[in-house]
Amino acid sequence: MPIIEIANLKKSYGNLDVLKQITFDVNKNDVVAVIGPSGSGKSTMLRSLVYLEKIDDGTICVAGNHLVKDGAYAKPQEIKEINSKMGMVFQHFNLFPHLTVKENLELAPKMLKKESPAQIQQRSSELLKKIGLTDRATAYPANLSGGQKQRVAIARALMLNPEILLFDEPTSALDPELTGEVLNVMKDLAEEHMTMIVVTHEMGFAKEVANRVIFMDNGEIVESGSPAELFTNPKNERTKAFLKRSL
Ligand code: ADP
Ligand code: MG
Repeated sequence: MPIIEIANLKKSYGNLDVLKQITFDVNKNDVVAVIGPSGSGKSTMLRSLVYLEKIDDGTICVAGNHLVKDGAYAKPQEIKEINSKMGMVFQHFNLFPHLTVKENLELAPKMLKKESPAQIQQRSSELLKKIGLTDRATAYPANLSGGQKQRVAIARALMLNPEILLFDEPTSALDPELTGEVLNVMKDLAEEHMTMIVVTHEMGFAKEVANRVIFMDNGEIVESGSPAELFTNPKNERTKAFLKRSL
């Protein structure tokens, strides 16, 4: 059974159809790379999975629970529970500037009160170690490099033990020399079998780490397949043209 089922997603802004019948499944342990030109609807699609955007019609089912079914949304409490299965990492990090690294990690779990402060602190220490930032626990985001900020954002998303991680162009705001450290953390997560959907322009990462690639253009999924299929033998002319520009 897929961990996420997405069927016939539709969304428009006025006359602009941003998502047109988007349909795909994500299986447990999948790393799905979503590629496509700017304005093709990638962010809108991803944000709709965590209820940051509302779709006009379609179905999103996460771990067997419908966030929205044929355009009808679940109740607020159910939406909250479904959202808690997913962590999101944004292009611009979205860290809380007035909180230290450690406080950024611990804020959401402390507010949820599902675990003891000791458990929460233990996990934040483990995750800081995992991303190699133990020595920056008390630093503020303003004093971190972009790569460090994004690693903190990933650790923060992991604090709630999500079943799925969503990334929206996590390296697009970084200087080229800092993308590697972020991609390495993501690669480690993939090797630990984290289920991930990654919107990215990093074709090398998509080739190497993803097991499936989805090419979106103009609000549609034009083509999808394994990296080997899609990158070496694209079938659609639009995919071919995009890859020619991007590789
Ligand atoms: P991508 O992430 O692939 O660049 P987006 O999902 O951000 O694409 O945007 C898809 C289209 O929707 C773009 O044409 C964008 O201008 C438009 N769009 C996104 N958000 C809004 C909004 N709040 N109001 C109007 N148009 C929007
Ligand atoms: Mg985008």
